[in-house]
Parts: sequence; structure tokens; C-alpha cells
Amino acid sequence: MILKEVKGNRISKGIAIGKLWLMDKHDDVVSRREIENTTAEIARYENARNTAICQLTDLGEKAVADASEEAAAILRSHVMLLRDESFREYVCDVIERKNTGAEYAILSARDHFAKMLADTEDDTICNRAADIRDVSNRLLAILNGVGESVQSEDTPVILVAEDFVPSDIIRVDREKLLAIVSRKGSVNSHTAILARAWGIPALTGVEPDPSWNGKPGIVDGDKGVLIVDPEEGILAQYRKKIIEEEDRKERFFSLKGKENRTKSGRRVEVFANINHPSELASLMENDAGGVGLFRSEFLYLESDCAPTEKEQFEVYKKILEDMDGKKVIIRTLDIGAEKQVGYLGLEKEENPAMGFRSIRFCLSETEVFRTQLRALFRASAYGNLSILYPMIVSVEEVRQIRAFSREVREELLAEGVEIGGVKEGIMIETPAAAVISDLLAKEVDFFSIGTNDLIQFTLAVDRQNEKLNDYYKADRTAVLRLIQMAVDNAHKAGIRVGICGELAADLTLTELFLQLGVDVLSVPPSVILPLRERVRDVE
Ligand code: PEP
Ligand code: MG
Repeated sequence: MILKEVKGNRISKGIAIGKLWLMDKHDDVVSRREIENTTAEIARYENARNTAICQLTDLGEKAVADASEEAAAILRSHVMLLRDESFREYVCDVIERKNTGAEYAILSARDHFAKMLADTEDDTICNRAADIRDVSNRLLAILNGVGESVQSEDTPVILVAEDFVPSDIIRVDREKLLAIVSRKGSVNSHTAILARAWGIPALTGVEPDPSWNGKPGIVDGDKGVLIVDPEEGILAQYRKKIIEEEDRKERFFSLKGKENRTKSGRRVEVFANINHPSELASLMENDAGGVGLFRSEFLYLESDCAPTEKEQFEVYKKILEDMDGKKVIIRTLDIGAEKQVGYLGLEKEENPAMGFRSIRFCLSETEVFRTQLRALFRASAYGNLSILYPMIVSVEEVRQIRAFSREVREELLAEGVEIGGVKEGIMIETPAAAVISDLLAKEVDFFSIGTNDLIQFTLAVDRQNEKLNDYYKADRTAVLRLIQMAVDNAHKAGIRVGICGELAADLTLTELFLQLGVDVLSVPPSVILPLRERVRDVE
């Protein structure tokens, strides 16, 4: 057996042993897959078709609201194509006659109808060929969603791909995912954050090789290597390491229930960052003092249509109830950059990190914002809720947000809805927000410092670019000065300030953050107990 050991960049620590599962998202060539149950395959196609209709209808409504009649007309015509019986019959016929998967049948229908239309003289009809391709690609994307395919695996897998975006990962059940390995990806991308939050090892910088598919593998997130098809001796060594890691965790569990006080008696709050309600179990297991950041955009990323007020309300209510009176900070939709969902219709941008995203999107698409705020205020009656607004750069913006949230609140009160005592705070994650933190502190109830973006914007380092990992870790003097400024200004105004960016999990900085006066550190669930041990060690 030839041992294949590939070096990569360490993105999330830990060791995983399991089957390698190669995903090729960008491959338009769909191989013909023989299937046994054609009825189930047709139902699979019908489901994808309904999802596509739902996505396009949402986009169409948005286009109408934006007075973009041309876009609305195109989207309506795409819905008509999906409802068109001849396309549907062609797909179902290919599945039945050729005993083939839905993907291959869609490609056959696409090529058949597109060719037929492209051959006509009439330009308008000819353009319909492009629409057919567009609609077919949407169907294929829905069918090939990695979540769906990995879900059908019996055993958990090590997922390998060229690149992952957060929506690839969020759709997969955590129990099905042992580790992720990709060629592209930086240490501060949301995919990396998700891997650390879920406590799964992750590597980047590894060129996937199609021959690995289905082979056993080991991901060593501590050393930064992937071992393909390991020998029994190596497997045994790694199994031993996994047991040692379990023992280390046991040691940390003895800290559960103990107070987080430094040696000199200063109390520090240690909260958890979560991206999905399923992470609550590990938050509880690690005895977090509260939820310091719930990235609500992941609710949007795992769905094919915008989550409704009722759906969101149920999720927020459950988190608040499960946390049983402990503080829960829910951040409003921070969509954009690499966190993209088709149905919100965000356009491709040259500089998406600095683009029409996050609070900018919410203040413009007020119906999306209203739906989320209504769900949040309604849920507030069930626990201790704080709402956190992302990507703030000005006082004017905060005033606009607070006026809008007052309006939503009053609307609910007029409907007789019970609302709890909600605190409203902002992320300090742009240099602008830190520099004017004296002014912002007068407008809100608390600050939460987002070091991931604060580093990106202060040091001019794209957090998505893996080539810049070293720059991202470079001299942090400028960032630390901004943090100091925000902490001092928060305290002068009598409000509390936490850090919820990944830097809060760097235990070599804990002492410094406490010296700066930070009140709350919010970290991935797996870091809570190690951080608590560190806090108890600080003078
Ligand atoms: C941050 O920017 O530090 C932060 C916590 O937000 P996100 O990582 O989701 O951008
Ligand atoms: Mg951020």
C-alpha cells in the first residue's frame, strides 16, 4: 500500500478518521447514474422543481418591489418554464425509460429543448434557449446541493473539495461530517469559523485528487496533514491520539459549574458563539455563561427561501428557552461577501466584503429586516434577549436602525404581542465604529467587538484570501489600539463590551484583553473550558 501524506494549512484542530468523500461542485458534466426506483427519482426531481419555483417566485417578488420590471418578467418566464408540462414530461420520460438519475434527465431535456429553440430564426425564441439552460442549471444546483448528497451517506465522511462556502457546510448534518479538506480557503473565512465551532478538523491548501474518493483517510488538524489510505499501524497511532484528546477534555470538564474569576477576583463572562441551534448542545455541555453571538444568517443559508417570521420565531424562542434566562445575543442578518443565498438576489460585486451587505442590505430591504425584527421581539418574551446589529460605520445608521426597531416594536405592541426587556447593541468591527465609539456608545446598550472584520478592514487584509494568512496574523498593534479605544469609550458611557471575534479564542491574548478591561469573551463552544482555565490563571 502506498502511503499518501499531503501537507495542508491548519484551519481547525483535531483528528478525524473516516471515508474521504470528494465533492465536485463546479463540474457541469453529469455522469449517467443507473437507478432502481424511478418513482423515487421522479419525486426527487419534483421536489427540486418545487424548490426552484419557490426560489424564483421570491426573487420575482423582490424584483417587483424594486420596480425592476424586466427582471421580474424574466423570472416569471423561468417559473413558466418550470411549470411547462413538455419539459417535465421529457425529464420524467428519460428517468423512466433509461433508468437514470434526475440530473442526467435534466441535462438531456435541457439540450433537447435548447437546441430546438436555438435553431429557429426568431431572436426572441432563440433567447429562450438561454432561459432553458439557466433554469436547468438551477435545478442541477438544487439537486447537487452537497448537503443532500452527503446526507444520503450511511456513515460520517471527510468532505474534500476545491473550495467550500458556508452554505455547503451548513446544509450537512453535523453527525455526518468528520472533517473538511479543501484547496482554497483562509483561516478566517466563515467556513473555517463554522468548522471550529463544530469542533471538526479542517485543512486548506490540499489539492483534491479524484482517486481518493471513497478511500479511508486521516485528517490531522494539529499537524496540518491529510493521510490517504493509511496503514493499520498509523491508524492505531491516531486512534490512540483521539483517546488522549478525550482524556484532555475530561480534565476541562472538572471546571464546569466553577466561577470565572481571575486570581485577583475579577469576574469575566465567558459566552459561546453559535451559528446554528444544533450547537446549543455543545454550548451546554461546555457550560457557557450565555450565547455571545448567534449568527442568524445561517438560518438563511440553510434554506432555499427566506425563512418566515414564524420559522424564525420558533428558532429564537427555542434558543431563549433552552438558555433558561441566561443572556442570548442574536445578531441580525449579516449576509453578503461569501455568505450568499440566491433568493435574496444580491448582485455580484467587485469588493463584496465592502459592498451592499449586512446592515446595509437590511436597511434597504426593510421587509426582510422587519420580518426578522418581528420574530426577535416576539421571541423576547421567552428569555433574556439582546439584539446585535453588524457592520456599523456611523451614528446616523444606528439612529436609523433604532427608529426602525422602535417602529416594529410599537407595531407588535399595538397587535397585543408580549415583548420582553430587549437590549440592543452594535458590532464594533470596522475601524470607523471604533474611532467614533465615544459617539456610538451613547446610542446603544452594549458593544461587541468583531475582531475578524476589524482586522480585515484595519490591516487591509482580505480575510477570504488564503495567501494573506500571515498578514492577518501580523502586528496587531493598530487593532489592539482600536479595541482599547472602544472598551474605554464603552465604559465611559456605562455600557459593557465584549469580544466575539476569533481573537477572543486566542489564549495567549486573554491576559491582555482582561487588562484592557473587556467584560465578555465569546468563543466557539470547544474553547469555553480552556478559556475558563486560562481566566482563572490570570492575575
Ligand atoms: C467578526 O467580524 O469578528 C465577527 C464576529 O463576525 P463574522 O465573523 O461573522 O463576520
Ligand atoms: Mg463580522
